Amino acid sequence: MKRPINEMKVVFPSLSENERFARVAVSGFLSFIDPALDELADIKTAVSEAVTNAIVHGYHDCIGKIELRVRVYEQGRVYIRISDKGCGIADIKKAMEPMFTTRPQEDRAGLGFAVMQSFMDKVRVTSKVDKGTTVVLEKCVASRRDNG
Ligand code: ATP
Ligand code: MG
Repeated sequence: MKRPINEMKVVFPSLSENERFARVAVSGFLSFIDPALDELADIKTAVSEAVTNAIVHGYHDCIGKIELRVRVYEQGRVYIRISDKGCGIADIKKAMEPMFTTRPQEDRAGLGFAVMQSFMDKVRVTSKVDKGTTVVLEKCVASRRDNG
């Protein structure tokens, strides 16, 4: 794969207030490509879902580290990876089904992965029970600079 034209990585604890930080960090970092605002909003929402999952599911009984990495390739190809070292997912296929949640008692709708899939071009999840979860989100964004 070609080298990214720009990249960043941040690591932060799984505090609920850091969900907002993750959105702002991604948005601030991507500002150099001047993305179309609706696409940027989609990316922020998808990141927010993945980070929330790490906080509420991955580290449901503790505070752990979340790593957020963003890489930008030529032609506005954005690659984002969110990983935790939390409890992991036993059945990824099932977890990704719309309306599936392991926390219905907390008013979770089970729609986080569905949102990520509808807002991004590609969503890949790898996970190991008791080791953690990694979510990769990819999207090609139109730069407002290219559009004039
Ligand atoms: P919603 O996102 O609508 O509030 P939800 O978080 O339960 O509800 P999804 O985001 O689609 O729904 O996730 C589905 C299920 O996958 C979760 O209920 C949880 O069991 C599991 N899961 C998702 N992310 C992680 C993670 N990082 N670590 C452990 N389990 C996870
Ligand atoms: Mg969720």
